[in-house]
Amino acid sequence: MHCCQSCDSQVAMEPRDGHAVCPECGRVDSAAAIRPLFIVTGASCSGKTAVLDPLTRRLAGRCVTFDVDWLLDAVGTLSGDQPINWPAFRDAWLAVAHGVAQSGMPTVLLGPLIPAHLETLPGRRWIADIHFLTLDCPDELRRARINARPRWRKRDIDEQVEFGRWLRDNIADRVDTSSGTPEDTAARVVAWIDRHLTGGQR
Ligand SMILES: [Zn+2]
Repeated sequence: MHCCQSCDSQVAMEPRDGHAVCPECGRVDSAAAIRPLFIVTGASCSGKTAVLDPLTRRLAGRCVTFDVDWLLDAVGTLSGDQPINWPAFRDAWLAVAHGVAQSGMPTVLLGPLIPAHLETLPGRRWIADIHFLTLDCPDELRRARINARPRWRKRDIDEQVEFGRWLRDNIADRVDTSSGTPEDTAARVVAWIDRHLTGGQR
């Protein structure tokens, strides 16, 4: 992401105290602010799409909010007739988040991500703490919601129920979307983000 402009060979710089530092020549570049990343995850029909608009509005000016699907069409085009390289897709989002951090703001990503998807990516070191919150609903409600989708949407019901259970068991922070409006859900997600941002973390 950051390469040294002084060394003759291409040397990847390292993050240090908000700067990018070359491990070979010691060059220091200033523009490498590090901010936390907030992941709002969930299996299909957890309410991610519904919460996007109210969440973006409530966080405007404080965090930049994206749905990871926004890059999906472009990444499909870049992939041509090859399958999408999902680790590269996720690393692109880490690069976006690091770019947003240079404007002083944390990034919020909505998408079906888990911690293991991000920890080993090259862009990980340019992000501060990554926090996960799951949007969840009971299995039966998820089945009903997926069945009620338009015909062209995928109907991988069992897979999504299984993923929802995995998230329930493995991600401690969770908001149930089975009752309450998207505005209610957004308010709870904002409260979760505020707790981290004011909690003295990086
Ligand atoms: Zn260098």
